[in-house]
Amino acid sequence: MPARPDAPRWSARVDPAWSLEAWRAVAREALQRQVAPEQLDWLPGGESSLLDAPSVLHAPLPADAPARVPAVPRDFLELAATCLCHGEPQRLALLYRMLWRITHGQRGLLTNPADPDVLRAMALAQAVRRDSHKMKAFVRFREVPGEEDAFIAWFEPTHHILDRVAPFFARRFTGMRWAILTPARSVHWDGHALAFGPGGTQDQAPRADANEDLWRTYYASIFNPARLNTRMMQLEMPAKYWKHLPEAALLPTLVRDAGDRVQDMHDRAAQAPQRRIPERHIAVRGPATANGDDLDALRTAAAACRRCPLWEPATQTVFGEGPRDARVMLVGEQPGDAEDLSGHPFVGPAGQLLDRVLGELGIDRKALYLTNAVKHFRFERRGKRRIHSKAQVTHINACRPWLLSEIEHVRPAVIVCLGASAASAVFGAGFNLMEHHGRWHTLEDGTRGLATVHPAWVLRQPPGAAREDAYRLLRDDLANLARDGNLLDPAP
Ligand code: SF4
Repeated sequence: MPARPDAPRWSARVDPAWSLEAWRAVAREALQRQVAPEQLDWLPGGESSLLDAPSVLHAPLPADAPARVPAVPRDFLELAATCLCHGEPQRLALLYRMLWRITHGQRGLLTNPADPDVLRAMALAQAVRRDSHKMKAFVRFREVPGEEDAFIAWFEPTHHILDRVAPFFARRFTGMRWAILTPARSVHWDGHALAFGPGGTQDQAPRADANEDLWRTYYASIFNPARLNTRMMQLEMPAKYWKHLPEAALLPTLVRDAGDRVQDMHDRAAQAPQRRIPERHIAVRGPATANGDDLDALRTAAAACRRCPLWEPATQTVFGEGPRDARVMLVGEQPGDAEDLSGHPFVGPAGQLLDRVLGELGIDRKALYLTNAVKHFRFERRGKRRIHSKAQVTHINACRPWLLSEIEHVRPAVIVCLGASAASAVFGAGFNLMEHHGRWHTLEDGTRGLATVHPAWVLRQPPGAAREDAYRLLRDDLANLARDGNLLDPAP
């Protein structure tokens, strides 16, 4: 029912304007006092003015006011929490109008997607989600000069999303000390808690650090001119974010040269031999980084990789570990749940089974460099559980530059692939694991390669004879390493 024309006006101030708790507290008071949407001026921020209508907190409480305002659907609260982060000043009033309608006979309001209020709220929420996604993808931390393991990023979001997105960075970069500065607000993570403060300026953040060249080299190596679609690229990476990205300086040149590079690829493809699965010589294509780049810098750069969508739901990048002069590199498929949470490869049940096999063969795990073809955990949620989901070819291809760079830096004498995904990342698509497992192959650069089953595959076999057979297969294949005692000696 609309308010009478002579009904008094009130003001409702929300501070901070993007906070669901702050908006909800005021909206609850207004509802209880039965103040209709038309009677309210919604105002963002804490500063009041003499021209404001009196606060709704001073509106009289009707004699028949309910002791509690009715509960509202959870969907509405989730939508409101997202909408409030939008910069649109009218969102506060829009949400109260929707709340009023929901509590005055239209409880199913959100199920009507043609309703103008619902449509508007959905559009605002969508814009906030998109801005949040861009922030997760385009924040670039730069090392603070003279401080160990401290990083600052400058970012200019379109909406009030810092509070919403900061927990994502806390989960992703738990072990680092970092701050994100935006014009309106800043956040600082000390390794334990997030602290929010006033906004900053771009010159308070380092402009560049030692990883900048690494990023650019990496980006140039993964840029595929044959897949260039400038319209999609500008949609996914709008020019307003370019100033945050070290790799953006490369884009004009890469785009300009794309046609020539595609022609060059065609010419080379025409000359290349067409055998799909070479028997003995298998190509390893060029690494992601220039020779001489440090493995730690590579690890830092990979921590911020957004090359494929797997980074977003995962906790962190799980990069390889082990001696940088290891003679044997073990490559698995991807991190599992335990690896994703700990940040270390092969620490979950499959890693423990691998330890058992290595122990039986007398191979010291500490002498090996352990890594994965894909550096982020791919999973499906089932209730509270995260169930491993096989990495796809697109993920393996996207992540291959990291693996190739690890190979380039460690220069192992032997690469052992655990599972079909790792084998296809190293030996190329079409490698038949069950046909070729346990046999030595020689890569193009002389590195020897061996493929066997993944320990997780062993664990997936039914208990009893099938699992014991699978275990034996893995152990017998890895026994090739133990047989070649020189491999496990320190590098000459
Ligand atoms: S899986 Fe690999 S390519 Fe994909 S985001 Fe993670 S590190 Fe980058």
